Amino acid sequence: MNIIFRSYIYDALYITADQIIKKYNPCQICENEFGAVHCIRDFPCCGGCEFLGPDGCTTECLMCKLHLCTAAADADIKLYKILWRTVLIARRYCLLEARVSKKDIFNRLRRSKHYNTVMANTIGDLKSVLEKSGGT
Ligand code: SF4
Ligand code: SF4
Repeated sequence: MNIIFRSYIYDALYITADQIIKKYNPCQICENEFGAVHCIRDFPCCGGCEFLGPDGCTTECLMCKLHLCTAAADADIKLYKILWRTVLIARRYCLLEARVSKKDIFNRLRRSKHYNTVMANTIGDLKSVLEKSGGT
């Protein structure tokens, strides 16, 4: 299965999950009375992650986007089931890894034995044609 197709799947699932999360707001992240970031469980599960910035996550990690802890899942089982269906699709394409950027996931996929080398060469050739023709 080629990387470009997987990349489309990744983006489609990420955008879908992001919209669902924004709509349902399962984690209810806010500032508590002491100015600390708080969520429905207690403290958000992003602590210590290299991608955690002052305004939240700085990357697009599909697995993190689809993850709900038991506190958030128990608070909305319907949402949990919706996200779980998305997890099953992402799993089929080996797109699930926590605390990892899309770029790193795809770098690993490229090195895996499942990577379609014919497609890689085609993409490489197309890139070189574009570069030579003054495109990007
Ligand atoms: S998944 Fe759970 S621990 Fe993580 S931010 Fe949401 S409510 Fe908090
Ligand atoms: S990559 Fe995951 S754990 Fe890290 S900040 Fe983003 S959502 Fe949180």
